[in-house]
Amino acid sequence: MIQQTLVLIKPDGLKKSLTGNVLTRLSETKLDIVAAKIVRVSRELAEEHYKQLKDKPFFEELLKYIMGEYHKKKVMALVYWGENAIDKVRQICGATNPEEADPVSIRGAYGRITTKGVYENVIHASTNEAEAEREIKLWFQPDEIIVDLYPTKTVKKSIEVRVWA
Ligand code: UDP
Ligand code: MG
Repeated sequence: MIQQTLVLIKPDGLKKSLTGNVLTRLSETKLDIVAAKIVRVSRELAEEHYKQLKDKPFFEELLKYIMGEYHKKKVMALVYWGENAIDKVRQICGATNPEEADPVSIRGAYGRITTKGVYENVIHASTNEAEAEREIKLWFQPDEIIVDLYPTKTVKKSIEVRVWA
């Protein structure tokens, strides 16, 4: 089944210069990268991305983590596309808890648990098709993705945009 999945290289991954390592590991999947960008994560984006965890005791720390308060204020967002994309990527990521993750997985190799109890696990990957759709639509606009993943519509907008001076 052809699927798409959202991948985030989290701020700890960028701070620790793991971008290349993570992308190399993901290339084992032979999936296609169909979108990629560096994003400065706002509080609104962080809250929306992790909204299903808002009642957890670690939620506030998790927001700070993904916004880059402890590392660099950026994440790398990518969309991987191809056969069984969701499970293939999750497999290489490893378990959520880096101590329980397979040591050869990305999270097992590079993740840690902070003294505040947050799993700094380097990478995010969608867990199912519904989550992938919600997350891809949250992080990317249709024109930032080089294939048509979901239905789109055209609307007329009259807005001020910043252009090169
Ligand atoms: N997380 C954490 N402690 C927990 C569970 C999750 O710090 O007990 C963090 C961790 O960074 C994780 C993120 O919250 O990646 C999202 O949690 P989720 O349960 O969705 O795990 P994932 O889908 O990322 O494996
Ligand atoms: Mg999750």
